[in-house]
Amino acid sequence: MDCIFCKIIAGEIPTEILYQDEEIIAFRDIKPLAPVHLLIVPRKHIPSLDQMKESDAALVGRMVAVANKLAKDEGVAEKGYRLAINCGSEGGQLVPHLHLHLLGGRKLSDRLS
Ligand code: 5GP
Ligand code: ZN
Repeated sequence: MDCIFCKIIAGEIPTEILYQDEEIIAFRDIKPLAPVHLLIVPRKHIPSLDQMKESDAALVGRMVAVANKLAKDEGVAEKGYRLAINCGSEGGQLVPHLHLHLLGGRKLSDRLS
């Protein structure tokens, strides 16, 4: 499949994996927008949040739990951080494989834009 995140999951693109289990992997964003910018990604190819099924709800919940753990590991939990999922072109989604951004390590803008 011609999906960059599926290639990372398959080990076809060398990437430092910060967390992995049977359902989820996490790695650093290649173009970080903050000192800590991680991507939490399900192994399952779900093209966008819009296409998640009711049966994927537990998986998405686990992505949030993994992000919270990584925020602690990366030392940003106490000062604060942001989780974001971009969905579709107007939502700013570039990679068509569901992923959760974890941003932290600096004061983020007060408003989403
Ligand atoms: P989106 O805009 O789809 O929510 O975010 C996609 C993110 O994936 C972007 O922040 C982009 O920098 C990141 N990204 C794209 N290609 C790669 C890659 O090959 N490796 C890593 N680590 N991040 C990538
Ligand atoms: Zn994929």
